[in-house]
Amino acid sequence: MALRIHNTLTRTIEEVAPRKPGVVTLYTCGPTVYRSAHIGNLRSYLMADWLRRALQHQGFQVRHVKNITDVGHMRQEMLERGEDKVIAAAIAEGKTPQEIAQSYTGAFFRDEARLNILPAHVHPRATEHIPEMLAIIQELVRRGHAYERSGNWYFSVASFPSYGRLSGNLQASLQGGARGEVDPLKQDPRDFTLWKAAEPGRSLKWPSPWGDGFPGWHIECSAMSMKYLGPQIDIHTGGVDNIFPHHEGEIAQSEGATGVPFVRYWVHGQHLLADGVKMAKSVGNAYTLGDLEQRGFDPLSFRYLCLTARFNARLNFTFSALRAAEQALARLRHRVWEWSLDGWEASPSSSPGPGTYGQAFWQRVEDNLDLPGALSTLWAVVRSELPAAAKLSLLLEFDQVLGLGLAETPAAFRVPPPVAAAMEGRRVLRLQTRYGEADALRDQAHHQGYRLEDTRSGTQARPLSPLERRRDRWSAVSSSREVPSLLGEPDAVEFSLVVVCDYLQDVQRCLDSALRSAGPHSLEMVAVDDGSTDETAAWLAALARQDRRVRVVHADHPLGEAAARNIGLKQSLGRIIVMLDPSAEVMGDLFIPVARHLQDATVGVVGPFGLYTHDLREFREVSHTGDVDAMQSYCFAFRRALLAQVGLLPESFRYYRNLDLYASFLFRDRGYRILADPSLPVRRHEHRLWLDLSDEERKRLSRDNFRRFLRRWGQRRDLLVTLPVG
Ligand code: AMP
Ligand code: ZN
Repeated sequence: MALRIHNTLTRTIEEVAPRKPGVVTLYTCGPTVYRSAHIGNLRSYLMADWLRRALQHQGFQVRHVKNITDVGHMRQEMLERGEDKVIAAAIAEGKTPQEIAQSYTGAFFRDEARLNILPAHVHPRATEHIPEMLAIIQELVRRGHAYERSGNWYFSVASFPSYGRLSGNLQASLQGGARGEVDPLKQDPRDFTLWKAAEPGRSLKWPSPWGDGFPGWHIECSAMSMKYLGPQIDIHTGGVDNIFPHHEGEIAQSEGATGVPFVRYWVHGQHLLADGVKMAKSVGNAYTLGDLEQRGFDPLSFRYLCLTARFNARLNFTFSALRAAEQALARLRHRVWEWSLDGWEASPSSSPGPGTYGQAFWQRVEDNLDLPGALSTLWAVVRSELPAAAKLSLLLEFDQVLGLGLAETPAAFRVPPPVAAAMEGRRVLRLQTRYGEADALRDQAHHQGYRLEDTRSGTQARPLSPLERRRDRWSAVSSSREVPSLLGEPDAVEFSLVVVCDYLQDVQRCLDSALRSAGPHSLEMVAVDDGSTDETAAWLAALARQDRRVRVVHADHPLGEAAARNIGLKQSLGRIIVMLDPSAEVMGDLFIPVARHLQDATVGVVGPFGLYTHDLREFREVSHTGDVDAMQSYCFAFRRALLAQVGLLPESFRYYRNLDLYASFLFRDRGYRILADPSLPVRRHEHRLWLDLSDEERKRLSRDNFRRFLRRWGQRRDLLVTLPVG
């Protein structure tokens, strides 16, 4: 049997038959190293890794090249995408682009190693291959595929008739070669840059026959694949976003220069989404592997998660899915560990295991890398009646492709001497039926991070899985949907304070001040820990243990402002809800005046910082007591019963800005007044969510939220109150 894989070029599933029998040449478009790879990028590299492992298992010798796009294109990328924060910051810290590239290259190699991705045989760096790029450009010039304008060289798409064949996207190709760039020098908007003359003052530049300059985006991959794998390669991989224009450009350049077909099989991995949308740093959903580790996940849980979807299907990343993957992997390791206790030697090759399982597994793998199918065969083996030794050897054989590191499990489960002593102690104590002392030893081991289990072969010890460790601390939710609503329950206290917590110092000031000022009022505080990774979560958990008025809901990742507030609202049991921002500090008795204002049934919302507007575009703060159009979120109080009418907050507001406008209009729409009372004792401090962002990010996020607001309320001037002039 041979591996069959979907080829983007032919749009069919084809048997992989390399040009040279026995050897497969594989090129993978590698990382751009001016930032950490996010787990979406890493999914693409996992795909290439599975492909390579599958080919190796079939007996092919695979020669794998993965380039590093280093300083060469950094500035161009920055200019085109306007995303130069990391570099700007680093340069401000006195680092050179080379140092940046070097440190992110190192980070990338570490990420790959943690994911058990086999290192490519060659990791060529773009900056070290400028002469090779120039040689191809010169050949393109010689063959009439390139032309010059003002010192820049362009590829002439008209000279290469099959341009567009890979992407099949002639529409897109008509929009021009490079990302959003409009270059008036081009003869044809489809043409793309091969070489650009350095502008005065540019530091990253290289000499060429046409003076100093720097290469275009696609040429590096043509040059490096040709140098290390020859003019014709078997398989080229990348993410789907690489198909156009990058790979289309590579084909045109390589074939234009050599006159022979460049790549036999183009294999493209589909995107990883997060919370249902494309990963982007600005949305706050572009996680790095380090982020997952910081949250206590084993990187291999992510590898397992990626096995649960076909490489050419989108995969939606959520923390609950990651947790499920982690549990499955922990179960798998646990079984391997149990089986290995009966004195097992790692010898996958001697697998005598019933052939049917092995066949079923490899059939799935060979069928366009159906790894979800292969995984279910693996679980069928786990559940089967086969002897432990047979299961083990089958699993180890499968793991040569899956790469979950199962062979290392017994070693990873090896315990340090004190735990081994506790293990032996418990075994003996149990034999003597001294169960109390035996349990004390088990608890002691638990504190050391190990679980003692009593098996048929005596008491055994293994490390706690990350999940078991986390359960010791607190449980966490992955979305507001998981949090039950108490809105139908009768009032249990007079006030609920709802605070979405981020930035420990602010949280401490806000919560302490509010609890201090509560005095004799019957009050509860619902603190929502919106996926913090600093000490906030632990501080809140400790506070809740000390102060029975405080309840904490932990989210396992940032859910966004509206979702986090909704969790607090749903969990509130107070007759009056006071939403506070962590940047607010309560300076006196807030509760008596708030309750007094809200006795008036026509008043929906009360707070100290009111806004008015006459056009729904510009909002101004008022300094007198009276009716306003909106209340700012620093302190926003209302009767809980009204939530049944106005509903919860729209969770598309991940960023806090302008959510308070939207919320205010929900109350106005139901006919309620919004009352400002600037004498309410609340002080505002710097808003850290705001300070932490760059100007550009603030503008964009605020603008996006304002659009959301306008889409819903832009036509509702009828809801505005008319203020006395002045
Ligand atoms: P870059 O470092 O931006 O050049 O991207 C490296 C690789 O990651 C490329 O092959 C991209 O196609 C791929 N990639 C980018 N975003 C995603 C995503 N959300 N999911 C999967 N792959 C991605
Ligand atoms: Zn590339």
